[in-house]
Amino acid sequence: IALANQGVQGLSPYQAGKPIEELQRELGLKHIVKLASNENPLGPSPNVLAAVDKAAAEIARYPDSNGFELKAALANKLGVAAEQITLGNGSNDVLELITRAYIEPGKSAVYSQHAFIVYPLAIQACSGRSIVTKAKDWGHDLNAMADAIADDTQLLFIANPNNPTGTVVDEASLVNFLDKVPANVVVVLDEAYFEYVEASDDDSVDGVALLKHYPNLIVTRTFSKAYGLAALRVGYAIASPEITDVLNRVRAPFNVNSMALAAAQAVLADDEYLQQGRQVNAEGMKQLTQGFDTLGLTYIPSAGNFIAVEFATDTAELYQKLLKEGVIVRPVGIYEMPNHLRVSIGLEAENTALLDALKKVL
Ligand code: PMP
Repeated sequence: IALANQGVQGLSPYQAGKPIEELQRELGLKHIVKLASNENPLGPSPNVLAAVDKAAAEIARYPDSNGFELKAALANKLGVAAEQITLGNGSNDVLELITRAYIEPGKSAVYSQHAFIVYPLAIQACSGRSIVTKAKDWGHDLNAMADAIADDTQLLFIANPNNPTGTVVDEASLVNFLDKVPANVVVVLDEAYFEYVEASDDDSVDGVALLKHYPNLIVTRTFSKAYGLAALRVGYAIASPEITDVLNRVRAPFNVNSMALAAAQAVLADDEYLQQGRQVNAEGMKQLTQGFDTLGLTYIPSAGNFIAVEFATDTAELYQKLLKEGVIVRPVGIYEMPNHLRVSIGLEAENTALLDALKKVL
């Protein structure tokens, strides 16, 4: 351990959940409902399965390292140039590329309390210094974040919607904030859950539309959530051509595999799948929040495909009880939210299973 860089010495490996099959064996249950990782409950688009099948025939060859076709399709859809897109092995990869490219050892990066856990991990892996601002109503306090920017700040992260709280920033506040950020600080707007935000909400933010005004802005998005490709690992950043050039300098060759590229392209063309997923999510959101209301539980209003629900005490025991009932949710103690559980929105029957299990164990 002592041989690792100082930042890495302070890290511990990411603790992912156990495989479902192992849990089924351990708990002696035939059926387990997983509402723990904000995945798309619909399963993949049928178009994706056909595209993956076709791409599988070519797995002896390296993928297109530049992701030419996928970038062209994304550029077309987003109204940007292909030179503004960086593809990653999930948006997680992109977040790490950004951190590696812009953080120097000992220099600082700003993010909010309760924000997505990968930010502190990525900053620390680069031996950067984290500046964490206090949350406001569980969400990002943009004024506090602007005030926290130090002379040595190189990077700033905003998750919108944020995981695990589901909170969003409104457009006017974000623009006001971006106007205050010095031009030499790179701002990452992590829009992993962008597609779930109700477009009817006038205040909602579309980071891509802001790029022309803020050359220091990077927007990250993913195919893991609303596009249902979590296992294939495809995410992307949209930024100025200059930032994109920098990110491509640190990107590993062939970082997105050929099946992932083909699948992403296929699902991007399947608008019906996206719309169906959004509808299932909106209905599930209603079902779960009504269920929580009936149970007298409070929760943080969420714009994503998950909800952080509050309980009277630490949720470690409750999490285990729900597991015994065959429902996996996500404890969020590492987010300084020991009394919350994050539950992903599932299909109607899965949501019912969660509500029934809660009724039983509470
Ligand atoms: N950003 C946020 C806010 C997330 O919640 C996640 C997934 N948990 C990611 C980025 C990374 O997702 P992926 O690497 O699957 O694109």
